[in-house]
Amino acid sequence: MRTISHWIGGKPVPGSGERTAPVWNPATGQQQAEVPLASREEVDAAVRSSAAAFSDWSQSSLSTRVKVLFAFRELVNSHARELAEIISDEHGKVVSDALGEVQRGLEVVEFACGIPTLLKGGFSDQVSAGVDVYSWREPVGVCAGITPFNFPVMVPMWMHPVAIACGNTFVLKPSERDPSASMLIAELWAQAGLPDGVFTVLHGDKEAVDALLDHPDVAAVSFVGSTPIARYIHRRGTEQGKRVQALGGAKNHAVVLPDAPLEFAAEHLVAAAFGSAGERCMAISATVAVGGAADALVETVAAKARAVKVGSGRDPESEMGPVVTAAARDRIVGLIGTGASQGADLVVDGRGLRVSGYEDGFFVGPTVIDRVRPDMDVYREEIFGPVLTVVRANDVDEAIALINDNPYGNGTAIFTSSGAAARRFQRGVRVGMIGINVPIPVPMAYYSFGGWKDSLFGDHHIHGPEGVDFYTRAKVVTSRWPMTERSGSGTSVGSESASGASYHFPTAT
Ligand code: NAD
Repeated sequence: MRTISHWIGGKPVPGSGERTAPVWNPATGQQQAEVPLASREEVDAAVRSSAAAFSDWSQSSLSTRVKVLFAFRELVNSHARELAEIISDEHGKVVSDALGEVQRGLEVVEFACGIPTLLKGGFSDQVSAGVDVYSWREPVGVCAGITPFNFPVMVPMWMHPVAIACGNTFVLKPSERDPSASMLIAELWAQAGLPDGVFTVLHGDKEAVDALLDHPDVAAVSFVGSTPIARYIHRRGTEQGKRVQALGGAKNHAVVLPDAPLEFAAEHLVAAAFGSAGERCMAISATVAVGGAADALVETVAAKARAVKVGSGRDPESEMGPVVTAAARDRIVGLIGTGASQGADLVVDGRGLRVSGYEDGFFVGPTVIDRVRPDMDVYREEIFGPVLTVVRANDVDEAIALINDNPYGNGTAIFTSSGAAARRFQRGVRVGMIGINVPIPVPMAYYSFGGWKDSLFGDHHIHGPEGVDFYTRAKVVTSRWPMTERSGSGTSVGSESASGASYHFPTAT
């Protein structure tokens, strides 16, 4: 059995062996590795190594950092296939989709390569007679990242390239369900010339997370995962005086208006609902079929759902792989059952799917549930599996109201050929990321990613300009160089005027 190590101080460090968790291959259903679960003491050692590395790295020049980032970019690019295969073997998604995940992560590294421009401060000349004001941003210290299973490369890359480029050190606590990709990423950072201790990987579960949240040397915490844990992380982290951004779960609606091109909308809905077996935080899980669009839409979507090729993520023919664990499969299957028992119409039922040669794999087939109402479990719960629910609405305003009543606000999309309807929609929904005829509107790396309501706790969206703000804090200097007479020389240096001090706030400049 392969045993996975932590990565501390620039090298692999085995776990104590006290507590471990199994890592499965979701396609075969077999355990393939064992991951250590760090204790409080191990977390303390890792954070102390990271804090020690901060003193030098925070003083490194911008050109040094940029050289490392460019080298890292090249290394990730040349190892993209290897990373994608590791992702596929532990997560289950198809390799082509995993390659796309690596590419989206790379785009954040490329954004971070521009850090000298992003960290340019401000300068105001002569704000008062002889007085200048200038500002810049400094790193915050040791930053921790706690990440979910569904994007084991991309989501950590929303965080560490930006944090490290800003001069911080970074401790990653990846999902214990697919931890191996983070170890290759650590090796690539080392090969890129990142000093030891700047990037750390610490495996674990709640015990490790709590120890990170409580550790006095951790300055900032970025979390991505489910809403109950996001809410908890934000509360516990901020109580300890840390800055925290905690991105939570989602229920992403796609509204289809009667004037939408039907075939185009159906094709995109199916890809957005069943790609990565629905285990994407931006997956479309609820379609809102408006007016006369519903019957034809459901029929077209159902036909396409039945045609999705489900198989091992390593099979190039597969369009959709298994879900991540047996527990996830059982939960999804249970929720599909509640849809049927609570009166929805199970148009395509993916329960009981068997994939030849992979009979023990954690497979659920694409599922379409029509005539869903907002009080049903399949609508209220984040299913996080290959299940597309269809809710019917009379008009665009009813669709907007439905979306706004939902506690989540991550992503949403509208399919229409009306610019007026799209504009009404984009202005009316209380959601962070909106697609117009684009089902999964993930912002490019130079924008920031984040939802509203229960999909994000904290003030900052992740990566992009808001990521730079999150991982830095501002210094503002107000400076004056008063006229001084060098004794005997008769020469004066400094500003053109040195006004006298006063006991009141200045009323004139
Ligand atoms: P999860 O919340 O179970 O786990 C996320 C991380 O938190 C993991 O590292 C895990 O070890 C840790 N964790 C789990 N339970 C904990 C506890 N009780 N205390 C402290 N730490 C704990 O999420 P998941 O199942 O790995 O990922 C799927 C979820 O992530 C979905 O809800 C999905 O919507 C969400 N997600 C959101 C985004 C986004 O951008 N908003 C992106 C990806 C995934």
